Amino acid sequence: MYNFSSQLRAQGKKLGFVPTMGALHAGHMKLISNSLGQNNTTVCCIFVNPTQFNDSNDFEKYPITIEKDLLQLERSGCDILFLPTVFEIYPSGTSNLVHYELGRLETVLEGKFRPGHFQGVCQVVDRLLEIVNPSRIYMGQKDFQQCLVVQKMLDVRHPNIEMIKVPIQREHNGLAMSSRNIRLSESAKKSALTIFEVLTNIKYNWGKKAVENLIQEASLQIENAGFEKIDYVSIVEAKDLEELVIWDANIPAVALVAAFIDGVRLIDNLSIS
Ligand code: AMP
Repeated sequence: MYNFSSQLRAQGKKLGFVPTMGALHAGHMKLISNSLGQNNTTVCCIFVNPTQFNDSNDFEKYPITIEKDLLQLERSGCDILFLPTVFEIYPSGTSNLVHYELGRLETVLEGKFRPGHFQGVCQVVDRLLEIVNPSRIYMGQKDFQQCLVVQKMLDVRHPNIEMIKVPIQREHNGLAMSSRNIRLSESAKKSALTIFEVLTNIKYNWGKKAVENLIQEASLQIENAGFEKIDYVSIVEAKDLEELVIWDANIPAVALVAAFIDGVRLIDNLSIS
């Protein structure tokens, strides 16, 4: 793969890379179509990376729908599917892997509630980039914090690889598409919509109500919709996830939510400024 992409690069051609954990949906396919439109060759990877799961139950229950994934990839025109084994990615095992300096970014929000998660993300993305050697990597804004973390890793380890961030793809009713949605019952899927509703509400009231009240109201609405647990409802600066305690029209802000319903952890976010 490395030689193949080096040859492409030598010919001035671009290779776009879309890393995923499979159970592909229209969100993933948007990343692929963006890459197809901007590069000569597109590589999609499906790999459920064990090192980024801090909860073994979540790892074991992660949906695998490889037959359907293959059909979608074929239909999309994606050029190459990379389907590595754990051994190919981690030939020396998964312990004692490289540690990345991520600073504050891995201590807040997802990092706080999923300790070690972003180390795992960096380990797998760094290794995949080493193998695939693309010109561009495509990542979804659904994982807002992940984009910041991976950009930080790219700056240090792969400064020549450009990250293209793709907006969140949603169902018609607003629910953010996610592989984990497959695990939701029909009624939980309806309740899950509350996340997008509270985010929209925060956006509408941003600058009109106190930040504290916005967060309290959102949390209450999520609880009332039947969510078992809320990890966070937070309003932060888009550039570095610094918490915003008062409204400032000049600061690009984003609201983020992580909460459990039906034992499934859902995340979503919305740019509010
Ligand atoms: P995953 O398979 O969940 O690890 O996701 C692979 C990539 O697809 C990541 O960059 C995600 O941010 C992106 N992605 C997942 N869901 C969506 C979505 N609804 N809209 C846009 N990108 C998404």
